[in-house]
Amino acid sequence: MRAGVLALQGDVPEHLAATGRLAGAGTPRAVRTPTDLAEVDALFLPGGESTTIARLLSESGLWKPLARRLADGLPVLATCAGLILLARRLTPSPSGPNPPTFGTLDVTVRRNDYGSQRESFEGAVDVDGLPGEPFPGVFIRAPRILEVGREATVLARRGDEVVGVRQGSVWGLTFHPELAGDPRLHGRFLAEARAAVERRAADARPQ
Ligand code: GLN
Repeated sequence: MRAGVLALQGDVPEHLAATGRLAGAGTPRAVRTPTDLAEVDALFLPGGESTTIARLLSESGLWKPLARRLADGLPVLATCAGLILLARRLTPSPSGPNPPTFGTLDVTVRRNDYGSQRESFEGAVDVDGLPGEPFPGVFIRAPRILEVGREATVLARRGDEVVGVRQGSVWGLTFHPELAGDPRLHGRFLAEARAAVERRAADARPQ
């Protein structure tokens, strides 16, 4: 199982470090080209500036191959700007034009909905099925999930608010687990991704 981190802009080193620290995860690959993408079985879509990442995805020739991999069930953990890029619906944001999106996750999202950089905050997050303490959520100019459609399932909440969803093997979080110093979400995502990849390989084998 090879994990990759989309490495065009944003908190790429933090995702590479968080994944690299996990026992048995191997060295994650920085994905910058369609060839890199073809060589990974699971992908982290980092936070950063969603409009910039969208532009760089087109310029690098990655947009179409990534759309195909998403349609084909690639396991993805998308954080913050990554979640914005996977959302099916974006509402207008006061902070300027929205990027184009892949439309994978059945959610409605508004960018920068908690305010500016100064309104960034940390807070406890309850993650479905995660044993132990609440997860330390780091929210940086975070998007807000305004609505969860029927195809998506709530994965994480902060109080009454939804801060994470999943749809099959694709997870979208408004916060940054790569900055939390807590490996549980990266670890669980990769364990599930590995199981999904092995199931597919077994299904593809001739009987
Ligand atoms: N505000 C950023 C955007 O709209 C997302 C913030 C982040 O990824 N930390 O792209």
